[in-house]
Amino acid sequence: MDSQLLTHDSVADYLAGMTRVTELVARHLAADSPSTGATVADLAPRVAAVDLDRPAVDLDSALAEVGDLYLRDAVWFHHPSYVAHLNCPVTLPAVLAEGILAAVNTSVDTWDQSAGGTLIEQRLVDWTAERIGLGGQADGVFTSGGTQSNLQALVLARGEAMGDLRGEAATAHRARLRVLTTAHAHFSVLKATRVMGLAEDAVIDVPTDASGRMRPDALRRELDALRERGEVAMAVSATAGTTDLGAVDPLRELAAICADHGVWLHVDAAYGGGLLASRRRRHLLEGIERADSVTVDFHKTWFQPVSSSAVIVADGRTLRHVTHHADYLNPRTSVAPNLVDKSMQTTRRFDALKLWLTLRVVGADAVGEMFDEVIDRAREVYDVLVEDERFEVAAEPVLSTVLMRYRPEGLSAEDADHLAPRIRHELLGSGDVMVAGTTIDGRAWLKFTLLNPHTPLEHLRGILETIARTGEDLRAEDAADEELLGGDLSADDLTEVIR
Ligand SMILES: *Cc1c(COP(=O)(O)O)cnc(C)c1O
Repeated sequence: MDSQLLTHDSVADYLAGMTRVTELVARHLAADSPSTGATVADLAPRVAAVDLDRPAVDLDSALAEVGDLYLRDAVWFHHPSYVAHLNCPVTLPAVLAEGILAAVNTSVDTWDQSAGGTLIEQRLVDWTAERIGLGGQADGVFTSGGTQSNLQALVLARGEAMGDLRGEAATAHRARLRVLTTAHAHFSVLKATRVMGLAEDAVIDVPTDASGRMRPDALRRELDALRERGEVAMAVSATAGTTDLGAVDPLRELAAICADHGVWLHVDAAYGGGLLASRRRRHLLEGIERADSVTVDFHKTWFQPVSSSAVIVADGRTLRHVTHHADYLNPRTSVAPNLVDKSMQTTRRFDALKLWLTLRVVGADAVGEMFDEVIDRAREVYDVLVEDERFEVAAEPVLSTVLMRYRPEGLSAEDADHLAPRIRHELLGSGDVMVAGTTIDGRAWLKFTLLNPHTPLEHLRGILETIARTGEDLRAEDAADEELLGGDLSADDLTEVIR
């Protein structure tokens, strides 16, 4: 039996295999579009046809199969025409670190499975807390992503809000817990309250200003109102960089209000967390140092491979709300640092090594500059758009997203609403350009999320031309269809006809 286990006996195969894999990925990295636009119908039968009961004849044929089923049609985030979601190109040192941590297979849950790995993760947690400005009691842990970081932060907030209540009193109190956030917050906040079994109406959307930021006066009012209703504010979940607009809630004002009311302030900086490394825009996060908990997604604006995120808390003692001592793993008597004491996971990847090697090779300043670059670029794209009469822009960019749509003179807002998703769909189908779409206050927009610092403005201008051309073509088709049908069709009918 050829077990193919990675041991000291397989070093030669390991080196040869890594070379093959690197060559394979390198070949596909050179792809001339971010995607092939392959559909489920294209790919599903090919994946289904693989006989998993019998292995391929050798590594080369298995790799060729991976190339065929996956890499050829993969979506490449480093490609300059990928401007869709919050996915980043990744630093080379982080990818190399991924190779190390997978090969060693460290699990950072306990000291006796990780040794130096535990200390490296802890250093990065401490370093991040220091960048946030949280003070000497701060602590935290790496997680699988912003969703998990937000969930854990809210679990800790609930632990604090519940205090020592037990039994029926606890049940009654739990039903009264509320989380205040905004309609622009990430859906993982709502999901967390569902997972935690809080009330159906546990999430209160605090009104926002015109730029999508939580209004401090409205927060005060909501806090007073819920208290009058006999409810309990468990946490305020502010966002530092909303997923669509990049809006940063006014953290300093919100922190002051939370302090007045004794409410836990969580800051979801999954997107804006990259500003912690910025030398030009760190001030946008002012007030974050007064948070009780902070979510930072390294796999977004720190150019790390998925997964890499952290939840950082001002008072490390609050992490006890996720602690469980198991005799076999982390007994109460253990004096060694066991990160499982602070995590919702048990077996856990040593993702911290990727950030570590990035900071040691690229450096924090350069990482921050990469984020600053894409924020600069978003502003430049905005400047281009406001001068171009074929386009409408939703808002001035704050971070690296730009929301716009094709709306030449004479096209109604409603027709532009119908056209935006169709343009996006056309582009996705071609695979040549990938943009995101969203709706704000019922209006449909196309969204650029810029995270590749090497993409020049000229290239983005080219994407705008493609969008405009696609919009023109669709309108011409609609006009032709209308003539064909001889009727007075609404945009809705036309969408149906085209389906
Ligand atoms: C992406 C994002 C999340 C979710 O993070 P994942 O890493 O995708 O789980 C949460 N909040 C905000 C603001 C985000 O942008």
